[in-house]
Amino acid sequence: MHVRLAAMTDDRRNRAVASLRGLAVGDAFGSCFFVPENYDALVARRLPADPWRWTDDAEMACSIFAVLDRLGEVDQDALAASFAAHHDFDRGYGPGVNRMLRLIRQEGGDWRKLVAESWDGRGSWGNGAAMRVAPLGAYFADDPERAAAQAAASAEVTHAHPEGLAGAVAVAVATALATTRPRVEGAQWLRDVAAHVAPGLVRDGIANAISLLPLEDSQSAAATLGNGREVSAQDTVPFCLWIVAKHPDDYVEALWATAVAGGDIDTTCAIVGGILGARPGRGQGGVPDGWLRRCERLPDWAGVDDAS
Ligand SMILES: [Mg+2]
Repeated sequence: MHVRLAAMTDDRRNRAVASLRGLAVGDAFGSCFFVPENYDALVARRLPADPWRWTDDAEMACSIFAVLDRLGEVDQDALAASFAAHHDFDRGYGPGVNRMLRLIRQEGGDWRKLVAESWDGRGSWGNGAAMRVAPLGAYFADDPERAAAQAAASAEVTHAHPEGLAGAVAVAVATALATTRPRVEGAQWLRDVAAHVAPGLVRDGIANAISLLPLEDSQSAAATLGNGREVSAQDTVPFCLWIVAKHPDDYVEALWATAVAGGDIDTTCAIVGGILGARPGRGQGGVPDGWLRRCERLPDWAGVDDAS
């Protein structure tokens, strides 16, 4: 019994690490294109100069990974404490989360109270809960129901609005299903993801993504689905899922297609990279060695044992 449990824990951890690397490389790759000098590289599909520096997406994903690795499930107080302890102001956080994490860290603020008061009591529907959650979906890939529930728990630490939670649930379940299925059949995979998502704008967006699968280029899809420009879950997650449905077995093509559509590029690339990072039978989720080498190392505190 203990041997079997230990083996399951190892599998979960390995999948989560693979997803986290895919996420961090995607985040760092995408963040390069906020520098005007790299516009030409994007259009020409030339890899930007290294080092590629990851942002808040990967930093928060490291906290999710570290909590799962230590406790085997989301403990919201532990997660809030980790987000606050490792919050680096220079990693591109949104103003609301910057303020909240600073209040927790410096003034002992209670995350439950701060989240309840955020956005005049409506809660955030930003894409911040979705951008960090793929490794959790990979961790619980053997149990998509649990992935959905744990994703919601991880989201609640910063996002109280139902769409913020729905975005995280969608990305976690998408990752779980992409991690266990040898073949991702786009429309069926999207329908299976949507079945776990509460009715609302994110789920409506996934339905739109299914209807747009005949499109070839990502800019056309983004014109309808959004590209994260509004940094909301609903204008970010459906587009990312469309990209994965179109390119489930090609990390590189998926990331270029994500980046050329513009918008919140580090976050869209982080989500796509995280979903694809633990795809089975593809060594490192198809993340090329050259991309891993260009990307900044993950922080030591995450405990990933990053040898790259
Ligand atoms: Mg970011």
